[in-house]
Amino acid sequence: MPIDATLPYDDANVFAKILRGEIPSRKVYEDEFAFAFHDITPQAPVHILVIPKGRYVSWDDFSAHAPEAEIAGFVRAVGQVARDSGLVEPGYRLLANIGGHGHQEVPHLHVHLFGGRPLGPMLSHD
Ligand code: AMP
Repeated sequence: MPIDATLPYDDANVFAKILRGEIPSRKVYEDEFAFAFHDITPQAPVHILVIPKGRYVSWDDFSAHAPEAEIAGFVRAVGQVARDSGLVEPGYRLLANIGGHGHQEVPHLHVHLFGGRPLGPMLSHD
């Protein structure tokens, strides 16, 4: 079920548990600002999630409230993960779902990195 991205941050969300090490993940990258891991239900040969370490519900929350250093650190980390994963030359897609119409399911900001094959049109039509 999509979440309401205007709700306050919920420390019980699954990505908060991954950040605290309470549930396992297949880690790809970690630095001061960001953590990246393989999506549990990959929708492309490469499907990585990059999340900020701070408590932000969505891109909306993050872009409105995060300090500049956290924004810069997170954006740099997303690019680094893509480069480290060999996605730049063949190309890849970045996606952040926000709230109901965006079909966001986990209420901790995450950027999807998709790659490893041609990805087709930008949106599905269903
Ligand atoms: P979204 O619809 O943008 O909120 O995407 C949530 C993503 O989180 C989906 O692609 C799920 O497959 C993924 N996901 C949910 N739980 C886990 C988990 N424990 N480890 C890795 N990925 C997860």
